[in-house]
Amino acid sequence: MNIAVIGGGIAGLVAAWQLSRRHAVTLFERHAVPGFVASSVALDGSAAGLRIDVPLRVFYPGYYPTLTRLYAELGIPTEPVDYATTFTGADGRAYFRWRNASLGGWSLPYVLPRDVGSVRAWHIVQGALRFHARACAAQAAGDLGGVSIGDFVAAERVAPDFVDGLLLPAIATIGTCSTTDARAYPAAVVVGYAAAGVARQSVHRARDGADAVAAKLLAGIARVQCSAGVAAVRRQAGGGRVVLQHATGVEAFDHVVFATQANQALALLADAAPDEAAALAAFRYRRLEVLMHRDTALMPARRADWSPVNARVCAEHAQPESTIWINRVQPALRHAAPLFQTVMPQRWPRDDSVIGHAGFERPLVDAGSAAALAALQRLHAQAERRVWWCGSYAEAGVPLLESAVRSALAVAARVEARGGVGEDGRAA
Ligand SMILES: Cc1cc2nc3c(=O)[nH]c(=O)nc-3n(C[C@H](O)[C@H](O)[C@H](O)COP(=O)(O)OP(=O)(O)OC[C@H]3O[C@@H](n4cnc5c(N)ncnc54)[C@H](O)[C@@H]3O)c2cc1C
Repeated sequence: MNIAVIGGGIAGLVAAWQLSRRHAVTLFERHAVPGFVASSVALDGSAAGLRIDVPLRVFYPGYYPTLTRLYAELGIPTEPVDYATTFTGADGRAYFRWRNASLGGWSLPYVLPRDVGSVRAWHIVQGALRFHARACAAQAAGDLGGVSIGDFVAAERVAPDFVDGLLLPAIATIGTCSTTDARAYPAAVVVGYAAAGVARQSVHRARDGADAVAAKLLAGIARVQCSAGVAAVRRQAGGGRVVLQHATGVEAFDHVVFATQANQALALLADAAPDEAAALAAFRYRRLEVLMHRDTALMPARRADWSPVNARVCAEHAQPESTIWINRVQPALRHAAPLFQTVMPQRWPRDDSVIGHAGFERPLVDAGSAAALAALQRLHAQAERRVWWCGSYAEAGVPLLESAVRSALAVAARVEARGGVGEDGRAA
C-alpha cells in the first residue's frame, strides 16, 4: 500500500517505521527535521557537540511498557536518572522535598527529618499516606469510575496541604497544565500513573538522547519529506484514495495517518464528517513555553535545596514552574557549568543566560477527552476507513511518549488489517 504519515513526532516516526516494514510510506514533517528533535539544543563548546533534548523525554518502565519494548528492539541504550524534587513557594524557599535512593534499576523516594520540619511539610507527608491508602482501596474496589482527582481528594478529605502543595503541582508538572486543569484529570488516570511504580522505579532517559531514537526510526522509513507541511487532506468520492496537498504538490494515498495534534488534524481534514470533527475538537490543548538557560535565579534560593527537579508553586500563577537541573539528569554534563531547562516559566531568566526557547501545546485530560477517545475508537472501527489518527492524545492515560507510541502501533495494526484500494475505489 501507498501510505502517508503526517507529522514526525514520536507517534509519526513510529507509525511510519512500523508500516514501512511492508508498505511504501512517506512521512511528511513541516519542520526542517522531524518534530521529535526539532527543538533540541546544541551546546556550543561542549564535548562532541552534545545536544540537549527539549523537552526532556524521560520515562519510567512501569508506565511505559510499549516504549521500553520499542527502545529494546531498536537497541537504544537507556540510563537511570535521579528525578528527586524540591517544591518552593514564590520566595524560593523550599517547603517540601523528597530525595531518591537508587539501587540498580530501583529507586526509593525518602524524606529526611529536616525536610519535614515544618507543620506544612508534615501535613504533606500525612496527606500523601492518606491519599495512597484511599487511592489503593478505591482502585482495588473499582470505585474510581469517572470521578475527577479534584472530586476524589475532596470526598476523601485528603489534607489540602498535600493536594495544593504536592499532588496538583505534580500532575500539572507531568501534564504541563495549570493546577485547575490538573484538578479535572480523571482520578483513574492519576492513580494508574502512580500505581505503575513511579515511587519505586528509576526514571530513565535514552542515553544518547532523542536524536539517537529518531535516527534509528528514520533509518527504517523509505521516504521522509521534511520542510513539507501538509496543507489539506481530502478523500476521493466513493471511498477511494485520500488526496494530500503539501508544500510541493498533490499526491493520492491508500491511507493517511495523522500523527499531528488533534487540533492540527482537524484543521487539515478538509472534508471532516461531523462525528470526526466533534471527536477531534473535544481534545483541548494548553500552550506552554520551555527555556534552556544558565540563570541560577530560577532555582531554589538556597543552593542546598537544589534538586534535579525544582517546582515553584505560588497562588498568583496558575501553572507551577519547573526547572530541571540538566547537569543532574544528563550524566555527561555532571561537571559542566550549570544548565537548566525551565518549563512553564513564571519569570524570565537573564537574557544573556538564555540558550534556547521553544513553544509547545499539550493535550488536557478530563472527562471530555475520555469521551472523545471512545469516539475516536468508534471512528477507527468504521468499514472503508482510510484516514487515521495517532498521537499522545489518542490513547488513555497521561499524554506522554508511551501513549504516543501505543497509539501509533495500534493505528499501524488497523491500517495493516484494512488493506489497500483497488482501481475501482473498493478495498483490494
Ligand atoms: C515540556 C514538556 C515536557 C515533556 N516531558 C516528557 C517526558 O519527560 N516524558 C514523556 O514521556 N513525555 C513528555 N512530554 C510529552 C511528550 O513530549 C509528548 O507526549 C510527545 O512528544 C507527543 O508526540 P506526538 O508524536 O504525539 O506529537 P508531536 O510531538 O506534537 O508531533 C506532531 C508532529 O506533527 C507535525 N505537524 C503538525 N502539523 C503538520 C503539518 N501540517 N504538516 C506536517 N507536519 C505537521 C509537527 O511539526 C510535529 O512534528 C513532554 C511534553 C512537554 C511539552
